[in-house]
Amino acid sequence: MLFLRSWWIIVEMHAEAVRFGARPSRFGLMSDAHYTIKCEACLVCYRVHYDPDAEGSVTHWSLVAQEVITARHPDHKDNVVLSRLEMF
Ligand SMILES: [Zn+2]
Repeated sequence: MLFLRSWWIIVEMHAEAVRFGARPSRFGLMSDAHYTIKCEACLVCYRVHYDPDAEGSVTHWSLVAQEVITARHPDHKDNVVLSRLEMF
């Protein structure tokens, strides 16, 4: 049970990169125009959306998004959930 509880705390924080023109996977997320991410290979654009728990580390998430999106080129999905990636 303890494991499950700490797992929940991790997944509760939510940050995702959303491709321009696509919708975030959740309602109520914040986004900031400063955190626009471009794939370095093809210039597809994403914006980072985040919840209040992730707000303090949004600069971190935008750096993660930059790496992940460029690394996954040319497989660009509409939503890339960043806060779940770090567990792997
Ligand atoms: Zn690309």
